[in-house]
Amino acid sequence: MGAAHQPFRQIDRAPTSAAHIAFSEEKMSTTISSEQGQVPERASIDESKIAYQRPQPFGMVPDAFVGSALDLDGDEREWVPQSPTVSFKPLILSVSQGFYINILRVRSSGVLSRHRHTGPVHALTLRGKWRYLEHDWVATAGDYAFEPPGETHTLVVPDDVQEMATLFHVTGGYIYVDPFGVALGYEDVFTKLEHAVRHYDAVGLGKDHVRRIVR
Ligand code: FE
Repeated sequence: MGAAHQPFRQIDRAPTSAAHIAFSEEKMSTTISSEQGQVPERASIDESKIAYQRPQPFGMVPDAFVGSALDLDGDEREWVPQSPTVSFKPLILSVSQGFYINILRVRSSGVLSRHRHTGPVHALTLRGKWRYLEHDWVATAGDYAFEPPGETHTLVVPDDVQEMATLFHVTGGYIYVDPFGVALGYEDVFTKLEHAVRHYDAVGLGKDHVRRIVR
């Protein structure tokens, strides 16, 4: 509560130092009234409602916006298939920073993959349930999990789950491994982009459809 009120107190204080000092002068000389002529004019412009007036910095990449990002039952063409039962909906593919955010959707149960992460992962479960063989927690809708870089784990969707959907923020990539850590394959923002371009082209959205989320 205290933190939420703090910015309002600061905004109130700023004009007080500039405007109220001028008005608190009891003597109404011509000099002061001309100053007062400036102060109300300035105060009449509520700067808090004005958009940023300067150019954005050189080198900045454009922003990106994805409407209905968490809609799991919308346009099926947005979902990029990786197997008959696994697909993903990319929200941002950051080729410049080497991370991506996507919703992974699995419509089967059992072991999905064993993989080792090179970077941190944030996982927000939206639907269904899943877990890792290496941990005792089970992620259900509304749960958050952090996967540390370096960890190897085995993703499992329990038998009673029809569908699981989880938003993953993946930095770096992950390496598919056998039970002893021997590398079998990999995935990163560039493989995700490759899948997406191919899929969007095939379903008629066009190769450029993915451009809106590549940064
Ligand atoms: Fe993982």
